[in-house]
Amino acid sequence: MNNEQVMTCRSCEGTTFASGKVSNGHAKLMPLGMTFSTGSSLIYTFCKECGEVSSIKVKDPGKF
Ligand SMILES: [Zn+2]
Repeated sequence: MNNEQVMTCRSCEGTTFASGKVSNGHAKLMPLGMTFSTGSSLIYTFCKECGEVSSIKVKDPGKF
């Protein structure tokens, strides 16, 4: 989870980013038409300068 690519914020051109995970029920991404026991957290990568989200990843795409 630490592949340090050089990214540049498209909003402020900052180069410092942080990642956060959305989980705990509320913002899980669920496959359509499947049971509640599946689904995946989303990982957001955002600029630490201005908060622009540069990337949203599904943590467990294999569940879909
Ligand atoms: Zn920025």
